[in-house]
Amino acid sequence: MKINNTILSFFVSVLLFFFTHISAHAFQVEVSPYEISPGDAFIIKVTDAKISLLPDASLNGKTFYFSSCGEGCFIAVGAVGLETKPGVCTIQVSIGEKKTNLDLAVRDTRFPTQQLTLPREKVFLSRADLKRVESEDERLKTIFETISDRLWKGKFMLPLKNDISTKFGTKRIINKKKVSIHKGMDIKGKKGEEVKASNSGRVVLAEELFFGGNTVIIDHGHGIYTIYMHLSRFNIKPEDIVLKGDVIGFVGSTGRSSNSHLHFGVKVININVNPVSFAGLGL
Ligand SMILES: [Zn+2]
Repeated sequence: MKINNTILSFFVSVLLFFFTHISAHAFQVEVSPYEISPGDAFIIKVTDAKISLLPDASLNGKTFYFSSCGEGCFIAVGAVGLETKPGVCTIQVSIGEKKTNLDLAVRDTRFPTQQLTLPREKVFLSRADLKRVESEDERLKTIFETISDRLWKGKFMLPLKNDISTKFGTKRIINKKKVSIHKGMDIKGKKGEEVKASNSGRVVLAEELFFGGNTVIIDHGHGIYTIYMHLSRFNIKPEDIVLKGDVIGFVGSTGRSSNSHLHFGVKVININVNPVSFAGLGL
């Protein structure tokens, strides 16, 4: 009986060894940075993949898109929303039948608060304006839910290299009542300063919106979009293919804006992402 147990445990150990050995060596995966704030982007990198299938990675019901970065190497850009609670989240990564979990730490982050006083008519919209905003929101939703082929290449850049006037995630309290969260960053700029494409992509929108004024949206593929608002004028048209650094328009104060500046936004799989963390990724 004693011998049988020993033999049994030996076989179990051998089986376990093979199982863990094979799974551990099916691929390597890492996330960087390991610690982020709510609204930040991160990179998931798979290396040493022995299976010729694209990996899959998901977190909080969102799936991130991988592309090749060489032999057995795959890279994806992921993000967590501003509403994410601090703590450790688990990214599930798989290639075919092989699965693994990756930890990602979300730190407790305090975003700035700003008090604003605006005239009543700027806070409460007329019925006609509300209708226009709703229909524009519908169109934007359709754009951001579309996943195209990858066009981005290497690091993303900020479209205008000036100081920030309002940070991403700033909580704006309007007339001590209405709360709105700033879902992009505002960059200071003089009227007419050049605004550059953050990366290569396709222009999917270049028109005047109620809040954004003259707005450009570039689809970089794999669910990544960059948004440029309040432009004085456009230098591109819808469907144009742009390269990183191309001048797409000029700083202005169109739409709901009280002074010349650029509102710059980033979306990753429909998540509003901090443009500063996004441009800092080592892609
Ligand atoms: Zn803004």
